[in-house]
Amino acid sequence: MSMFEDIPVSIGVIYEGERIRWKDIYVELGGPREKYKFELVKVRNEKDIEDGKIIIIGSDLKDLKPGQSYAFGILIEVAGKDVEAELEGVIERRIHEYINYIEGVMHLNQRYDIHLRLNKKSFNKGLNSFNLIGKVLERLYKSEMPFIQKIQITFITNPSAVTTAFEEAIVTYETRDAKARGMKDEAADAFYGCTLCQSFAPTHCCIITPQRYSNCGAISWFDGRAAARIDPKGPLFKIDKGECLDSWKGEFAGANESLKEKTLGEVDRVWLYSAFGYPHTSCGCFEGLAFYIPEVDGLGLVYRDFKGRTVNGLPFATMADSAAGGRQVDGFHGVSIEYLRSPKFLQVDGGWNRIVWMPSSIKERVKDYIPADVVNKISTEKDVETLDQLKEFLERQEHPIIERWQDEEEPVLTLSEEGAKLTVPQITSIPISGIPTATGGFTIILKNAKIIAKKLIIRSEKKKV
Ligand code: SF4
Repeated sequence: MSMFEDIPVSIGVIYEGERIRWKDIYVELGGPREKYKFELVKVRNEKDIEDGKIIIIGSDLKDLKPGQSYAFGILIEVAGKDVEAELEGVIERRIHEYINYIEGVMHLNQRYDIHLRLNKKSFNKGLNSFNLIGKVLERLYKSEMPFIQKIQITFITNPSAVTTAFEEAIVTYETRDAKARGMKDEAADAFYGCTLCQSFAPTHCCIITPQRYSNCGAISWFDGRAAARIDPKGPLFKIDKGECLDSWKGEFAGANESLKEKTLGEVDRVWLYSAFGYPHTSCGCFEGLAFYIPEVDGLGLVYRDFKGRTVNGLPFATMADSAAGGRQVDGFHGVSIEYLRSPKFLQVDGGWNRIVWMPSSIKERVKDYIPADVVNKISTEKDVETLDQLKEFLERQEHPIIERWQDEEEPVLTLSEEGAKLTVPQITSIPISGIPTATGGFTIILKNAKIIAKKLIIRSEKKKV
């Protein structure tokens, strides 16, 4: 007998990755239309919770008006003799996986960014109460994380109760994140890896270090360590650092080996502190994205909840699509908000001196971590809307990026009987997906190519800035 016999829809890994479009929803919980949404796991004393209890604060699914979005929160309280507070983040991250096992329910993102949809088909099959979703979660947690001895689950749809609980959850997230600040990668005896997102991004593997937080922003180095200790064969595992191959770029032999093994050879090299060359792979649930802006040779930053268009005219979703899936895409780099607070944040590429645009809301959140001499020189959507305005802003503010414009030399084209050879001199980093780059510039060789042109002009675009 299946442990889900009494659940009216099917439960299984085959439903992970199921997408539910707006026209098919019964209701949407959280998501971009709602400001207040969260999921939180708290470790409690055994006597303070009731095992198997499911609480609903506000309307149950069947009482929500169909076709609408609602503020929403999930609080999971757990207890057990081996359950320590450091496991909260890891247990919390499994909500994403387990809810996605339910036929007709989609769960995206994490923490304060959750986005759930229930489709009409599953609702009509009888999935009409949070009690049923709670039962699925309880059983999956107990079977997959047997160290959890007691679990109590609360679903909140009452708007004022969601707001209050949301504020409390934010405090918990901040406390967790602050714990690793001040720790250095050099001092860590090991790193940790996570492959939880491989069901969506088969070649993605997070390398989690004290100074490079996971892409989703939900799992810290401490969380990785606690999870690997209690469940060493699970999706979070220890990585022996091995030889440090390049301390500036953040290349470690052990991280490379783990990556190769976990991606079945697809990715075998990573520079932890760069968006270029061998950047960290990007799955689909990164909190934010660093993106190259060739017109100014700088990097922009955007995050999931930013609703407008970025300075290059593209919304977050369009750029996220070109980076996600577990690939290494030169110049497109999934990041967590916490990584922006790291002293090693994209240090190879120039760190904050290379950032030219970001949404004002994130800037406000991380402004204390941006060097004082550059913080006012980074534009936001309130300062500029177009690339031309961006160039003017950067010049007016004397952003450090303008030094890069002056440094560049003209590219050189040589023609011979063997073909044409274009050599672009020293540019430390420029994204050309699919073309291997080498230190000291890059070379494009056109073999057996026939190019007919009345006039050939080769010009450094950045000189026009
Ligand atoms: S983004 Fe990384 S750390 Fe977060 S769940 Fe996915 S693989 Fe794990």
